[in-house]
Amino acid sequence: MDRISEHITFAEATHTSKKLPNIPSNKELEAMKLVALLCFEPMRKWYGKPLKINSFFRSAEVNKAVGGASTSQHLFGEAIDLTTGSKEENKKLFEWAKSHLTYDQIINEYDYSWIHISYRSGRNRMQVLAIK
Ligand SMILES: [Zn+2]
Repeated sequence: MDRISEHITFAEATHTSKKLPNIPSNKELEAMKLVALLCFEPMRKWYGKPLKINSFFRSAEVNKAVGGASTSQHLFGEAIDLTTGSKEENKKLFEWAKSHLTYDQIINEYDYSWIHISYRSGRNRMQVLAIK
């Protein structure tokens, strides 16, 4: 198993700068494949160029080490933080994604420094948020 989706490798999806275990369970892996297929890949296709993943799956240890919220959807493999590399491009991608995709939450993080998007297998809330 070395791919989560067409444009996301397992290594990218589990990368962490912390020297801590970060291996998803099968259930988490299934959640990761869903958000990758239904959120990331359509964004990648619309943008037409590579998107950098800043953070995807986080084990409890990694999430704690990076100061993530205890309820973070990254813990369940349901959320991806991604960036085009520019705030201007991130804003365009965010605007497109918020009105064309199904998601649980899409978050403009720190004036479009990156985009957090999540998907869950139950009811998706379609929440549009900003963290300043
Ligand atoms: Zn996030």
